[in-house]
Amino acid sequence: MSRASEPSAAFAFGDWQGLTASFVRAARESPFVAAQLERSGLSAEQAVANPPAWSRLRPTRKHDLIADQDGAPPYGSRRCVPAPEISLVVESSGSTGKGREVHYLSRDDLGRSSRAWARYLEEMGIGAEDVVALTFPIGMAGGGVRHWYAYVETGAKVLRVGGLSSERKLDAIRYYGATTLVATPAYVDRLAVICAESGCPPGELGIRRLVVATQSLSAEWIEETERLWGAKLFEWYGTSAGIAAFCCRLGMAADGRRGTLHWNPAVAAQEVVDPRSGDPVADGQRGELLGTPLINEAEPLFRVSTGDEVRFVAPRSCPCGSNWPGIESGTVRRLDAMFKVKGINVWPAQVEATLLEDREVLDYRVRIYQDGGKRERVRLEVLARPGHGDELAERVSRTLQGETGISFEVVANHDRERWSQATAGEAAKASRWVDERIGT
Ligand SMILES: [Zn+2]
Repeated sequence: MSRASEPSAAFAFGDWQGLTASFVRAARESPFVAAQLERSGLSAEQAVANPPAWSRLRPTRKHDLIADQDGAPPYGSRRCVPAPEISLVVESSGSTGKGREVHYLSRDDLGRSSRAWARYLEEMGIGAEDVVALTFPIGMAGGGVRHWYAYVETGAKVLRVGGLSSERKLDAIRYYGATTLVATPAYVDRLAVICAESGCPPGELGIRRLVVATQSLSAEWIEETERLWGAKLFEWYGTSAGIAAFCCRLGMAADGRRGTLHWNPAVAAQEVVDPRSGDPVADGQRGELLGTPLINEAEPLFRVSTGDEVRFVAPRSCPCGSNWPGIESGTVRRLDAMFKVKGINVWPAQVEATLLEDREVLDYRVRIYQDGGKRERVRLEVLARPGHGDELAERVSRTLQGETGISFEVVANHDRERWSQATAGEAAKASRWVDERIGT
């Protein structure tokens, strides 16, 4: 069968009927969705006429969500259940300078979503016999708490080690015989170092499965980490709006090729589109991921723009043989510049805005790296006006910590000549932000 004859494959509408019914209902009940239609110049019936018409529906963007919340706090005009029926509220992680998104689930939504995520985890082989060390904090962000519900739904035991020191995390992993470690890639590295320093190679911990959050990762890092831990790497993708994808049983890499993060088309309609034309991309091509959760009654959202650039994997293209569509593992990239440091989202635009408000700062550059102990660090060099030094560095560090939740090592520099040499010519075009961490 030629790809041209199945355009809907790129849209991945497994449950087109379910999507159209929930969209038509939401268009009636949610002023937010009605406004989305108005922006698009479409009626609800026109938008769901067929997949090409659907692709004319303007995506839901972050600023739309924030403006909606600001207009009707805290849940916005998009709330479609009475407030007492809301059971879980999450916020987008970090601080963006553009505000935090608020998302929420009814009790029924939470049940459906936890079962859907549990099914993904079961595809990765997780079940009642597993003990899971969850290193993400159970905070206001969705990642930690939604994983907690999902792993519990599989019957696995979840060690909520996010609040413990690294040493105590390792003690808990050993004591309870954890089989699965859920962490950021950099934190997997960090734990390996601490473990080795305590005289125990990570491979002897008994962890069989490493589940890491989305980040661009090199094939070498994947191979080396699996060897070091004697464990298989799996990846998941998730946003605070509830758009999710998980590795299948093949993991992040198998037989020398990258794995696939799949989604179940019965619970989500995800599209990968060319960011310029808005057209769906073909199998193997890159584009922006747009997501539509199909199981949310409290906050129905359609075509949510993720700002993530991904490679589309059509149904049945993954060697696992699944007819669930997906995206390539290990190669998700941000379309707008954003960095994740210690699991927190940092937007350069926000840091820049903060720095340039300080009259003593003339220029800056940032380096994100891992130190000898594999800790993630952010070094910020500022070019300061003459006569301003330590005090400026302290002030900038304190302000940025408050704004972003990340601690910056700030170094003030006064030598304008050397500074301009270092950033002249080709380097002047280079980004002020350099990410030297693994795999990036
Ligand atoms: Zn697969």
